[in-house]
Amino acid sequence: MTASEFAMIAVFAFVGLLIGSFCGVVAHRILRGETFLTGRSRCDACGAQIATYDNIPLFSWLLLRGRCRKCGDPIPPRYPLVELILGLAYAATWLVWHDEPDAAAQIVLGLAFATMLAIITLTDLEARIIPNGVLIAAVLAAVMIIAIGGLAIEQRLVAAAIVGGLFLAIAWFLPRGFGMGDAKLIAVMSIYLGRAVAPAVLAGLLAGGLVGIALIARHGAAARKQKIPFGPYLAGGGLLGFLVGDDLVGWYVDEFFPDQST
Ligand SMILES: [Zn+2]
Repeated sequence: MTASEFAMIAVFAFVGLLIGSFCGVVAHRILRGETFLTGRSRCDACGAQIATYDNIPLFSWLLLRGRCRKCGDPIPPRYPLVELILGLAYAATWLVWHDEPDAAAQIVLGLAFATMLAIITLTDLEARIIPNGVLIAAVLAAVMIIAIGGLAIEQRLVAAAIVGGLFLAIAWFLPRGFGMGDAKLIAVMSIYLGRAVAPAVLAGLLAGGLVGIALIARHGAAARKQKIPFGPYLAGGGLLGFLVGDDLVGWYVDEFFPDQST
């Protein structure tokens, strides 16, 4: 790796950490119906304003050992974890796409995608909610980036209609098995991923399903009644899908349907 490549990765990781911190604020305030454009963050427990030096992504949480400086109430580890993952996701997006055709548009699309996934992961973990507003904003952002960047849209619309439609139908007819929020998320992911949505959703459902089975094995009937929040698992699958999904689908098509290889 050259020095300039290393510098780019560091810049993207740093920006990802900062945006990850902003995602924490957005997710926290959306669930409480507050504006996230102005105002300082406060501790949920004691209401103390969080000082700038205690608001440094990842590091403040580690230095404070996950507790409020004033009252000692725990700060959930999902916030620094999502910051860290978004930093890694931003760096990986640049690393994977900067040599590809349409690099600039693909990278911007990937950053928008990862940011949306970070917000819905936090809201789904805290309250089992995937907010419609975030999904709508994500669709608008995707359409703008695809249009301005001149990326192909046909395959994305086909994926949204088939894969999104399938899961919306499942959520409609089997509401106890699968949440409508998860289905809408899959439809939005299809716009970002095109055909790569297939391995992304498979990976997400598999991971979420395995964790669900483990919880039932451990906690028995009580866990069975709880709906699995698939959002975070679908988000993980979506990130993988954006980074390696298209290569995976290409390999699969070449291997099993060589006549239709693209
Ligand atoms: Zn406090």
